[in-house]
Amino acid sequence: MTDRQLREYLEFYQDLGIKSLYVRGSRRPTEAPAPQPQPVKVETPAKFESPMKTTPLVVVPSLSPAHDNLLKIVDDIGDCKRCRLHEGRNKIVFGTGSEQAKLVFVGEGPGADEDEQGTPFVGRAGQLLTQMIEGTAKKEGIPLLRKDVYICNVVKCRPPENRTPLPDEMEICGEFLFRQLEVLRPKAICALGSTAARALLATKDGVMRLRGKWHKWRDLPVMVTYHPSYLLRPYNQNAKREAWDDLKKVLHFVYD
Ligand code: URA
Repeated sequence: MTDRQLREYLEFYQDLGIKSLYVRGSRRPTEAPAPQPQPVKVETPAKFESPMKTTPLVVVPSLSPAHDNLLKIVDDIGDCKRCRLHEGRNKIVFGTGSEQAKLVFVGEGPGADEDEQGTPFVGRAGQLLTQMIEGTAKKEGIPLLRKDVYICNVVKCRPPENRTPLPDEMEICGEFLFRQLEVLRPKAICALGSTAARALLATKDGVMRLRGKWHKWRDLPVMVTYHPSYLLRPYNQNAKREAWDDLKKVLHFVYD
């Protein structure tokens, strides 16, 4: 199994809310009894373990400066080198969509396509997200296109090999995400997947537990649903229906 396959496998269980897996020790017949299974943390594969081991949740960063706006945030990000993610990035992926958006989608971080183009959710997961937004809206009789919402991520630079962002990376970049949200002040936020949910809700709970219900980031309503990448995996097709239900709830709440 390659590192990437192992990560996807662990993420699959993490998405299901399973936090520990047990490795069965191999045992030859003449050996002493195998040791008891050792728990393996699923949350962050050991290879990418954060140096901030004792701070599993994202710390709420400072409040926005007065008279903040999106251009000022872009300006403040500048040619950011605040965390290690700048080392492998091509483009900073700030966010896209209407500044008047009543609905903001927050994903995890840019993938290869996004890193190349500088726009969030333009790869396969992005195409599915667009289809989900526009398809669900159309079915529900809501005139809404992707360009009418705002889409951004917890981290603005692509993590190497698309790994999950580490807590310190989320904390540093979270400052800019929170400023974006304070400037936009949408009627609702839709958190796509557990990284976005963790960044916004400071919880360790997985998507399975959080999805389909309303939560709050500061005073703004947050709906958690599955990340579109999760829905692209062939064994997760049942989750698609749930994601569509979550999205319907959000769209009616925001646009009715
Ligand atoms: N996945 C994300 O979380 N964000 C993107 O922009 C693309 C894929």
